[in-house]
Amino acid sequence: MNVLTIQPRGGFMLRGITHPVCRDLMMSATFLKKRGHTVRVWDRCVDRTDFTDPKSGFHADAAVFFISQSSSVKDAIAVSARLRSNGTVIVWADMVALLGADLPDTHLYCDYLLLGEYCFTADELLRALQSGDDVSGIAGIAVSGKGGFTKTEKRPLPAFSELYPTDWTLIDVEKCFRRFQSCKKMLYLNASTGCPYACGFCSTPACYGQRRKRPFGHVLSEIDFLVRNHGLDGINFSDELLLFTDEELAAMKACRERNGNSFVWGGETRPQLLSDATLQKMYDAGCRWLLFGLESGSETVRARLSKGYDPARVAEVVDRCTELGISTFGSFIVGFPGETPQDLRETVRFASSLDLDAFLFNYFVMIAETPLYEEAVKSGRFCFRSILEYDSLVNTDKLDGNFSRIPYRELATVKAYFDFLTITRKKKTAAKDKAGAQFLKKAINTAAEYLRGSPKEAAAGLWSVAKRGVSVAYYPLAHPGIVKKYGLHNVNRK
Ligand code: SF4
Repeated sequence: MNVLTIQPRGGFMLRGITHPVCRDLMMSATFLKKRGHTVRVWDRCVDRTDFTDPKSGFHADAAVFFISQSSSVKDAIAVSARLRSNGTVIVWADMVALLGADLPDTHLYCDYLLLGEYCFTADELLRALQSGDDVSGIAGIAVSGKGGFTKTEKRPLPAFSELYPTDWTLIDVEKCFRRFQSCKKMLYLNASTGCPYACGFCSTPACYGQRRKRPFGHVLSEIDFLVRNHGLDGINFSDELLLFTDEELAAMKACRERNGNSFVWGGETRPQLLSDATLQKMYDAGCRWLLFGLESGSETVRARLSKGYDPARVAEVVDRCTELGISTFGSFIVGFPGETPQDLRETVRFASSLDLDAFLFNYFVMIAETPLYEEAVKSGRFCFRSILEYDSLVNTDKLDGNFSRIPYRELATVKAYFDFLTITRKKKTAAKDKAGAQFLKKAINTAAEYLRGSPKEAAAGLWSVAKRGVSVAYYPLAHPGIVKKYGLHNVNRK
């Protein structure tokens, strides 16, 4: 069957500026190709080919959309409609499609959903469609009908050892490289998916299940291929929880050495899982940045989120990383349901006690299939009514619904202040990579990328960069009382 696998575009992925190559798309496209389908990958963030145009030379019998970002729902809907009019069967997959399965309008835009497992399920579904067989016996799908979806039996997630190493010849790798930290050719790869934790605001456990690791040999063979054929010099692991064993770190170190130590890597993990000895091994194996999801400095809020950690250990890990030369990014969320000014004060105090390279403050957004969403639905406070609404609401950079007990301008002032701090501060201890300067450079690169787009893209992109810049300056200057209330003027800037 001719299959088009699609990453739709939209929001902050416009022109691929922060462009994670969709890991599930790549794994599935590889699998379908190995199983004999003729596969094209259409990454709409970077590929200008119009596969909806019959003149593109590829008629898709089926199109599988991997909608991993809420901001790309509108694009997925528009492209699905165009392909449908050519007689293409429309299949939606990945996190956003999964979260939208129970919304009343999702079935209007696609013919089938893949519910959590994409490789075996897609292959079985496409074969059944090709031969005209009944699909109701295929586990792990939802079939669109007049009143909504009919879901089939649940399908367990397979071990990654049953899949293949990702076939990177399916995409134009060079178009997907991004600049990040010291890297000019950074790409997103993954060594695992899923997470064993259950933080109240996060949909990872519902969408990707428990943590499943890929065979490490697959990961290393892909790195070897990408370094030797494309000059890859950075890997941002898109694992929800990046954690390597000592053996894997030794193998990664050997992989770097055989490739002339030409690449570095980093990813997101939990600081309390890292001993000093592990951090040293990570550095030796090429780790140069780590993102820690810290969320809140308030113990009350963290308890509500089921996200416990020892703040003193977090501070130690951050300092140890700095000594080693690993940049650290701390991610915080403001505006949690029920969060009070006192909770926010504790977050400010905790964040400012850490010698992080960058403070990433985001607004809380309600995401379906999370414990906090279930609570909000049960109490009648909130409920999504449409997948289109999901597209406009789920954006951590703006606040569309304030569930906290803190006025919006106070949340905005704290967020803006830490954005400002990230750009301007000098670390207490000398870091080898200056994240603040990198972020500023990134803003300039982002603006330059937008300018290379169509006039509409350039205008939209520059407007969003300008808005961000203005809010960073405006809120703290316009609200000195809030700066004082949260002790922002005391935040150590050295
Ligand atoms: S926030 Fe991170 S640690 Fe918590 S459940 Fe999600 S992926 Fe796991």
